[in-house]
Parts: sequence; C-alpha cells; structure tokens
Amino acid sequence: MNTPQTPAAGSPATSLQDIIAHAKEYGFVFPSSEIYDGLQAVYDYGQNGVELKNNLKTLWWKAMTQLHDNVVGIDASIFMHPLTWKASGHVDSFNDPMIDNRDSKKRYRADQLLELKAEAYANAGDEEKSTALLQEMGRLLGDNDLEGVRNLIIAEGIKDPVSGTDNWTEVRQFNLMFSTQVGSLAEDASLIYLRPETAQGIFVNFLNVQKTGRMKIPFGIAQIGKAFRNEIVARQFTFRMREFEQMEMQFFVRPGTEMQWYESWRDTRMKFHQAVGLPADKLKFHIHEKLAHYANAAVDIEYKFPFGFREMEGIHSRTDFDLKAHQELSRKKQQYFDNEVDPATGKPYGNYIPYVVETSVGADRLFLAVFCNAFTKETVGEGDQQKERTYLKLHPALAPIKAAVFPLVRKDGLPEKAEEIVKSLRSEFRVIYEERDAIGKRYTRQDLIGTPFCIAVDYQTLEDNTVTVRYRDTTEQIRIPISELKAMIGQEVSMERVLEKM
Ligand code: ATP
Repeated sequence: MNTPQTPAAGSPATSLQDIIAHAKEYGFVFPSSEIYDGLQAVYDYGQNGVELKNNLKTLWWKAMTQLHDNVVGIDASIFMHPLTWKASGHVDSFNDPMIDNRDSKKRYRADQLLELKAEAYANAGDEEKSTALLQEMGRLLGDNDLEGVRNLIIAEGIKDPVSGTDNWTEVRQFNLMFSTQVGSLAEDASLIYLRPETAQGIFVNFLNVQKTGRMKIPFGIAQIGKAFRNEIVARQFTFRMREFEQMEMQFFVRPGTEMQWYESWRDTRMKFHQAVGLPADKLKFHIHEKLAHYANAAVDIEYKFPFGFREMEGIHSRTDFDLKAHQELSRKKQQYFDNEVDPATGKPYGNYIPYVVETSVGADRLFLAVFCNAFTKETVGEGDQQKERTYLKLHPALAPIKAAVFPLVRKDGLPEKAEEIVKSLRSEFRVIYEERDAIGKRYTRQDLIGTPFCIAVDYQTLEDNTVTVRYRDTTEQIRIPISELKAMIGQEVSMERVLEKM
C-alpha cells in the first residue's frame, strides 16, 4: 500500500491553469465550439463533467425539496414577458460600469479594478484603507457618479496590467441582459430577453403554486435553470460565464419574520456546502455592507478558489420588492391571506404581500469549487520509488463513476466474470468495465476522474467468488465476497448519507 506523504488537496500551489487542463483532458469541461477556437466565457460539460454536475444538482434539489416539506420545485421558461424585467429593475439598472484602456484597447469592469486595489490594501495589512476605498466606490456608484469613479481609479494610481498606462476612457454603464426577438415578421416582432436570473420565473408563479399546492406561509419554491449575462469581463474559467446555471429558492414569509428566516437559511446553506465535502476553512460568509435596491440584508457564501475567496452563493432578504413590483405592473394582486391569529391583535394577520428570502447558488461555481477542492497531487512511495500521484478526491456520492471493474488478465474466463459483476451492479450505480492496459494504468485512469472504487477480478475470484476492492484515496485494497459489493458501495456512494449531514 502506498503511503501518501504530502497531501495537497486543492492546495494554494494548485493553479487555475492546472484545473482547466485537468478538466479538459479528462472529459469534465471543454471550451464551447472549440473547433472554431471557442466562444469566450461559454463552456460545455463533457462525459464526466455532466455526471458530476448532475449529482450536485440532484443533491441541491433533494436538500431543498425533500428535506423541507414546505419547499416545492418548478421549472419555468427561459423566455418571459418583457415586462417581467421592467418590474424586476433589470431593464433600467442591471448594469455594470465598464472602462476601456485606450492603449491596450482592453475593457474592464470599473468596480472590479477598484475592488482589486482594495484587496491589495487588505493583503498588505491596511484594512482601513481597503474599507475606505470600497465605501467611496459604493457611494459613487450609488449616486451613479461615473466621472467620480473614473477619477477615483486615476487617483488610486490604477494602471492597466496589459499596457501599464492609466490612459482610461470615461466610465459607461453597460446592461448585461441579452436580447432577441420573438415573432417572424419584422413589424410584429418584439424584443425579449434571455433571463439573467431564474428568480423571476418563481415570482411570477408565486400564486399559481400557492393556490394549486395549497401552500401556507412560510413556504419556498425552488428552481434549477439556465441564466444568461453578457458579462463585460469573463475570465476565471467557469466562475464567470455568459451562459450559466442557477439553483435558486425563494422563501415566502410573513413580513417582520424575514430576518429569522434569513439567518436560518444562511446557516442551512453553509451546512450544504460542508456536507458535499467543501472544508470549513475554505468557506466563509461575506456580509454585504452596501445593499442592492431590493434587499434589507445580504450575505455571500465565499469559497477559496485558486484565485482567492470569491462568491459562490448569495442569500438575500429581498423584502416584498419583486412581488410588489409585479403587482403594480401586471395589475394582478400578489397577496396572500394569512388566517393565523396575530397574538398582538387577536385577529388574523389577513392579506399581505409576502416578504422573500432568497438563496441563489451557481451550479457552475459550485462545480468549480468542488472540482478545485478535489484536485489532489501528492508524492507517494519511499526513496527511489517516490512518484507523484494525481487524483480527484471527490465525495463518492458526487463521483461521475462509482466503480470500475477490471479482469486481471484478458483470458481464462476473467473478463466474463468481471462483466457479470458489472451487470449485477449497473442498475444501482454507474459502473464501468475496463480491460485495456496493465492494471496499474487502469487504476491511474480511474483516479484521475475520481472513481472511488476499483474492483479487480483475479484467479481466486473464480474459486471463491471474492474480489479485491481498491480505495481511491488511500489506495488500500481489501478482499470481499462479490455478494457484499452492492451493499458496501451503496453505503459509500449514497446521497442519503450526505443529506443526513445537513
Ligand atoms: P458576481 O458579483 O460574481 O457577478 P452576482 O452577485 O451578480 O455575482 P447573483 O446575481 O447574486 O451574482 O447570482 C447568484 C449566483 O449565481 C452567484 O452567487 C453565482 O454563483 C452565480 N452566478 C452569477 N453570475 C454568474 C456567471 N456569470 N457565471 C457563473 N455563475 C454566476
């Protein structure tokens, strides 16, 4: 058995470049339309990536709708009536401030340039300067003082990393929504948007679900779906894409109780991330000082990516902003009748527009966090035998393939026996059969995609119906009867065990 010496799961030494290369090489994530040199900030999930992503989505779905009997799911369309985005504020204010450097012709997000500067102050130990800069930026953006933002960039001595100059253009607001047209004839075609968030599909269905499901407040509606944003600067792999997937839940509550629910969902969501295997010291809360126009409290759950702590999920107390805006624009009442008795008045709470607590996590950012955390390089063996080993330390419940079955040699009935085992497990888990190359190479191939168990069939198997099972993380091997495989693997890969930790 090899003894791991330098465990380095997702260590700071792991660069994003290593992650991107591994994701591509082993069928997790490919650049979109790569044969045409790709499309910036758009990616495709490969044969292993889609399994990992689906497992994450399934766990989220179960964590929301199965663990909470007052949360139900929907699947709304990507296209919505254009007034939806007027009501939500996206038409008028879903903007990012952009700035160009005249020498390099590169485009940046003005707020991100300032945030990077603030991060540099903080890293140098000057928290005060860092906070002051963020506050000043918040004030200027809040006042829509774009000239002030440009002056601040120059005053802070921020230079374009490409050209090294501060030859900046003015700052302009740029709307992030993609638009297109519905209707076949030019004259009756009308402008519609690709949704920039899934949340609005939930808001416009609030009463449909409440009435048909006879839901009582508090209750939640969950949804997984694509969202589209024309991000100005899209770097950092699947962290910031122009087409991505969100997993959102809107929780409708009685006004005045929102802070209690906000706190409880914040903690529930943190537990989720730990249960899927992200370590506590790589996760933290980041409370928003400056709140969006619709929120009265907001916190991000940040994960320590190879490029630093960044937002993975947002938990927002959105008040009645959205439902109220939809009520005004659609002229359809978005109220709920609460027949519970208010102890203060002795009368039912009656009609009101519910307040909303939202949890919103990007499936792709969660995928990236889990992938970065799993990517492990370690030195194994002693002396001359030392070598580097790379594997994906994925939680077995998330692994794309749960077990690989190998015949030791390609003769004497071993392949048939191995095929038999695959057949007996296949309806329960994703299992594959592998006979090419030496057995060591086969183990390595499975390590690289995170398969937790490798089952080897040898001559002893033919005599006593036992096999060896090799554990991915320790490379330890045990011998067990074939009849015990299903229960043993089943226990390790079960989502139930992950959900129980939440
Ligand atoms: P950021 O500040 O990073 O742009 P945001 O605050 O605009 O993110 P929200 O609008 O709160 O993000 O969206 C909720 C979640 O959706 C985010 O926490 C993130 O996980 C995901 N998300 C948002 N934009 C993108 C994107 N361009 N690519 C991938 N995931 C995204």
